[in-house]
Amino acid sequence: MPSVFIKTYGCQMNERDSEAVAAQLVAKGYSLASSERVADVILLNTCSVRDMAEQKALNKMQNLVAETRRTRPNVVLGFLGCMAQSRGQELIDKLPDVDLVIGTQKFHRTGDHLDDLLARRRDKVVDIAEEQGSEATIKEHLSYGGRRNNGDHRSPLQATAFVSIMQGCNQYCTFCIVPYTRGAERSRTIPDIVAECRELVSRGVKEITLLGQIVTSYGKREIGVRDGKSAFVQLLEAVNEIEGLERIRFTSPHPKGYGDDLVDAYGRLAKLCESAHLPVQSGSNRILKLMHRGYTRERFVGIVEKLRRVKPEMGITTDIIVGFPGETEPDFEETLSLVREVKFDNAFVFKYSPRRDTPAATMPEQVPLEVIEERHTRLLDLVNEIGKDKYRRQMGQRVQILVEGPSRKNPERFEGRTRSNKIVVFEGSERHRGQLLDLKITRAGSFTLYGDPAILGLD
Ligand code: SAM
Repeated sequence: MPSVFIKTYGCQMNERDSEAVAAQLVAKGYSLASSERVADVILLNTCSVRDMAEQKALNKMQNLVAETRRTRPNVVLGFLGCMAQSRGQELIDKLPDVDLVIGTQKFHRTGDHLDDLLARRRDKVVDIAEEQGSEATIKEHLSYGGRRNNGDHRSPLQATAFVSIMQGCNQYCTFCIVPYTRGAERSRTIPDIVAECRELVSRGVKEITLLGQIVTSYGKREIGVRDGKSAFVQLLEAVNEIEGLERIRFTSPHPKGYGDDLVDAYGRLAKLCESAHLPVQSGSNRILKLMHRGYTRERFVGIVEKLRRVKPEMGITTDIIVGFPGETEPDFEETLSLVREVKFDNAFVFKYSPRRDTPAATMPEQVPLEVIEERHTRLLDLVNEIGKDKYRRQMGQRVQILVEGPSRKNPERFEGRTRSNKIVVFEGSERHRGQLLDLKITRAGSFTLYGDPAILGLD
């Protein structure tokens, strides 16, 4: 049987989609290649959120075409995911050596399309149609986990797993391409999601991250509010009941979705980790309105205050865009002041990137690139300074981590995450994998903590 290599760009949703495609192909008998150099099928699962991500995947494919077509002309080359969805046939027109283009609602058809291409029943396949029920098709997992193992099915079982709970987005933020690449919001049922989580726990998974483009909109249409609880909170309650599961996380939510029911859930549900990724995008109310975000700076700060009241140790991270069209220096200073006020544990700072078909791309007053660069540097400096201080404050604290595996920075050591989602590196070994371990923090680096197993009662 052929071997496949999948390279993933972008967010956790894309990682999860790639893992499900890999599992589907392994179930058909494919092996997972350790590198693209030895693979019979090479798939790039793409991201469209910023132009840079699209350019990276296009350049990569150009290089793959140059390398493979000379020496291994039968290798199948394909694009999957968001850019495949938004560009479709255009990708083959631009790169005629590409064989396969599969959109975001058709991942589950990858195996069938590859069969046709490998058996030469078809010369090219472009499948980007919408498909009813496609939200329930991302459920296959590799038997040995998929997260951070580059699809290597021989690597040991992962302690953490992603579970896709919904697809699509109805928010239509004016900068964002996601509603056009992922379609309208569609949610899986609670029993279907719980069954998948149970299956993962039976294989040794201890922590599950529930995934969706806007998870807090989960089940709005299909399930609705019951006893004052949103469908998303009802789902959290059901997952919290799973025996053997230790931790629940989710990403990404929308600040608008943080009603009192969700804030209360952090106090009630023991497995729900004290961590929230709250994409704020800007600190200026004028820009938030132009972005069509649906909340004000004051409402955002109110949510953070409520969360910290329920769980003072809550880790809070965010996404911020600099240089949105019309962003003036005073608007940007509002963002700086919000960052100082909230004191995020970390923030992803993005340079605004115009996306086709989005309203912001044609707004007047596009901000010059050099101004965007300068604001990006200033904001990153502030985020790093605050982050450093927050991490330093963890010194001497006792924390519990779930050990995930060898450290990505130094594979001689092991690493895990605190409940507030901070990476802790320690002197560990394979026997620690999947364990909940108490550590004392001895050192704080740049967005990484270092710890020693805490000896209770000795200090
Ligand atoms: N659920 C998130 C939300 O609340 O909007 C969206 C997730 S999006 C895939 C990840 C981040 O990419 C966004 O939060 C935003 O900061 C950034 N982003 C989206 N579109 C962008 C654009 N056109 N230019 C720069 N950054 C962008």
